[in-house]
Amino acid sequence: MSIKGNAAVIGAGFGGMSVAVLLARAGFCVDLYERQERVGKKLLLTGNGRCNLSNEDISTKHYLCSDENMLQKILDNMSVSERDGFYHSLGLSTCVMKGGIYPVSRQASSVLDVFRFTLEELGVKIILEKKAEEIRADKRIVFSDGSISRKPGYDHIILSCGGKAGVYSEDKENGLGLVKKAGHSINATYPALTFFKCEEDIRALAGVRCDASLKLVVIDKEYRESGEVQFTKENLSGIPVFQLSRYVKEPSKALIYADFLCFLKDPRRQFEERIRFFGERNLEEFFAGWLNKKLALYLIKEAGLKPDMKVRNCDMSGLYKLATAYCFKIKDRGGYRDAQLMCGGVPLNEVNKDLMSKKAEDVYLIGELLDVSGECGGYNLHFALSCAYTVYKSLIKKGD
Ligand SMILES: Cc1cc2nc3c(=O)[nH]c(=O)nc-3n(C[C@H](O)[C@H](O)[C@H](O)COP(=O)(O)OP(=O)(O)OC[C@H]3O[C@@H](n4cnc5c(N)ncnc54)[C@H](O)[C@@H]3O)c2cc1C
Repeated sequence: MSIKGNAAVIGAGFGGMSVAVLLARAGFCVDLYERQERVGKKLLLTGNGRCNLSNEDISTKHYLCSDENMLQKILDNMSVSERDGFYHSLGLSTCVMKGGIYPVSRQASSVLDVFRFTLEELGVKIILEKKAEEIRADKRIVFSDGSISRKPGYDHIILSCGGKAGVYSEDKENGLGLVKKAGHSINATYPALTFFKCEEDIRALAGVRCDASLKLVVIDKEYRESGEVQFTKENLSGIPVFQLSRYVKEPSKALIYADFLCFLKDPRRQFEERIRFFGERNLEEFFAGWLNKKLALYLIKEAGLKPDMKVRNCDMSGLYKLATAYCFKIKDRGGYRDAQLMCGGVPLNEVNKDLMSKKAEDVYLIGELLDVSGECGGYNLHFALSCAYTVYKSLIKKGD
């Protein structure tokens, strides 16, 4: 196959490895630069070590982004059969669990392995421990050790430097410094898909896992999620909390109302019925069979009541309110180390529909660098792969 051109991919994370594979297969000579000592380190952390690659239900509603039309076009650049075919071509079989697409091995490490084998088979040159600092106008790359990539410069440079989430090194900026130097602006960034720290003393709830319907109120906006909530000594965690964290730029302005009786169809009527039925029980017994015991005791205490008080002697209205709309004041959230995602990043209006930078010709931006924030459930890896397909399709079209 004749060489279509030279491409440099900066950042050997999920998006970078994907675009490197696609371009190398299409006949490009690809150099893949990675600032760390290994490729795909973050990939090993994904999906609790199982790597949630994608989802059966892909649509823009699962993402926060300022330009839904543009996002739709990026997602449309990779069909479901292309996605499945891509994984198959790496040698990776996938399965569906609760709508999420995972490797059948249930191991993120096997996803990384098949990427590594494929990159090697395709002759992609991997250059480790090389941190790109600047892209020169002649498409040569300046690295942090003072070296400069070969002459003449690359035909195409793809920036896939990711965000700050899950970054365990001192280099908190990751690739953001590089894109700033290329002339891009960065929408305010903050950690997301992470837990919240509460003002309330919730030590008594440590270890509780229960279903709840959550309402997040941020200034005058409301967002809802439900599912299993988890408590630690200080934190409110679990998938619904993670999903809501994407909407919280300033934690101190956020409140979360939890409805712990969300499993009831007609909660007020059923609560009153239970009061009539179990009026002779004490408060602790009243909640047995409905709520986690630690949670019940916590709510009883918060209502200013005592567990051994008889139901019929208590004003139960306060307790009902707490059980259906307990308010947690948020004081902080998990940092980037604890987060699965960086919200914010390069605004979509600074790249064209092929993801080429509007500031630097033949430089492309993909993945988490861009200000598109997916939910938990495989949406962020799916977005990164869709970006890789977008760039690949654009470059092969240019080469035709
Ligand atoms: C704990 C955790 C669990 C997650 N689980 C899931 C999941 O199950 N499903 C899902 O869809 N998403 C998940 N995500 C999110 C997902 O991993 C990211 O959205 C995705 O990896 C983004 O891909 P990317 O290629 O844009 O960036 P990354 O995968 O972050 O890769 C960027 C790479 O660029 C390198 N780099 C950065 N700057 C430079 C530079 N200047 N020069 C050279 N190299 C550089 C970095 O070292 C890194 O290797 C998870 C994230 C975390 C932290």
